[in-house]
Amino acid sequence: MAQNIATSCVIAGGGPAGMMAGLLLARAGVETVVLEKHADFLRDFRGDTIHPSTLRAMDDLGLYDKFLALPHQEATTLSAQIGDESIPIADFSHLPTRAKFIAFMPQWDFLNFVAREAQKYPNFRLIMQADVEGLIIEDGVVKGVKAQTPQGPLEIRAALTIGADGRHSIVREKAGFTPQDIGAPMDVLWFKLTRRSGDTSEFFGRVAAGKFLVMINRGDHWQCGYVIPKGGFEALKAQGIELLRANVAQLAPFMADRVAELVDWTHVSLLTVTVNRLPLWHRPGLLCIGDSAHAMSPVGGVGINLAIQDAIAAANILAPTLSRKETPSDALLARVQHRREPAVKLTQAMQVFIQKRVVSNVLAAQGRPLTPPWPLRFFQYLPWLRRIPARLVGLGYRPERVHV
Ligand SMILES: Cc1cc2nc3c(=O)[nH]c(=O)nc-3n(C[C@H](O)[C@H](O)[C@H](O)COP(=O)(O)OP(=O)(O)OC[C@H]3O[C@@H](n4cnc5c(N)ncnc54)[C@H](O)[C@@H]3O)c2cc1C
Repeated sequence: MAQNIATSCVIAGGGPAGMMAGLLLARAGVETVVLEKHADFLRDFRGDTIHPSTLRAMDDLGLYDKFLALPHQEATTLSAQIGDESIPIADFSHLPTRAKFIAFMPQWDFLNFVAREAQKYPNFRLIMQADVEGLIIEDGVVKGVKAQTPQGPLEIRAALTIGADGRHSIVREKAGFTPQDIGAPMDVLWFKLTRRSGDTSEFFGRVAAGKFLVMINRGDHWQCGYVIPKGGFEALKAQGIELLRANVAQLAPFMADRVAELVDWTHVSLLTVTVNRLPLWHRPGLLCIGDSAHAMSPVGGVGINLAIQDAIAAANILAPTLSRKETPSDALLARVQHRREPAVKLTQAMQVFIQKRVVSNVLAAQGRPLTPPWPLRFFQYLPWLRRIPARLVGLGYRPERVHV
């Protein structure tokens, strides 16, 4: 016998999009339930970058200082280390926002923070280990979700269902939506290496012919992302873990004394990269947001922030109707898509451009010495140009403010 809950809004997925939508709707007086399939927020890496657009939302919520009291690193500028040269690319110090930097913070700290703030509202409920398996659909209208929990089946009926369950969204699938694949030429290998006193404390990124490494400072260890050609993991594995160790040591010579910590392939996880989007994000009673509506590439580290912008737009547009416990009309759901879609298309177009022109070229340049492409030289000699990528990455097109 399934347990039954009735609410105004049920959100499938407690990632950046789902948790932020939950906080904003609950704060606006909407009875909201978020279902997250994992027992905690310690899950596969999905990005640690909190951009000025998200920090501005925290400011709108009066949470800016409290949020930044959590351990994090701040980057006011971003550079690309290509071959032996470091080229400054983005300068956030001129942004018209309180935060003139990107904050690097483990995503579980961010999600735990949002969960704590949301749980201060009595109309907010977060149910962990609730795996959404299906939709309740009556007369073509989505009326809620069916989930499995350790206590047994759970059915939640709601005026609106939000699919925020990421790139492999079950909500999207059960709604009959098929995303258009836009393509990504790479996957990412993910592993940890010890961080020692004397190491740089900065975010570290290094590009050389055929190789691409980013390293995120997590206190006692470096979280490393090593970019490989799409589908190339098996071929790399066949060459032995020694090759990966040697490549990491070449890109980050200060790590040479500890690459042996990569004892075998069990120390390495594969993160597949997908870029796609739905032609239609909604149907009666249902709205998809974040990666469920548009899976983002890691390029630019903007996916989390775009997912949060979707959540803000959805809350701004839908909260007044939902707080009256009414199902938003199709026209209202369409307004969310129309509001956010241009920013998604533009951002994905930039990601695809960089994937094709930079990432693919780097990965294909086996053995050849790598020099920065000439357009990047403009950033070196014209410092004001660095404000443009800072604006595109830090705020994005059509940044949202919290109005509810
Ligand atoms: C390798 C890689 C690196 C990336 N790096 C960055 C970065 O540095 N910065 C950045 O901004 N973006 C990055 N991105 C993009 C970013 O991860 C996504 O755009 C962002 O996480 C989207 O947020 P979301 O809330 O929509 O989805 P997700 O973060 O995927 O969250 C979905 C949530 O739903 C839960 N869930 C899934 N299915 C169910 C279910 N059936 N029932 C209940 N819960 C469910 C999941 O457990 C998860 O908690 C990266 C992506 C990849 C692939």
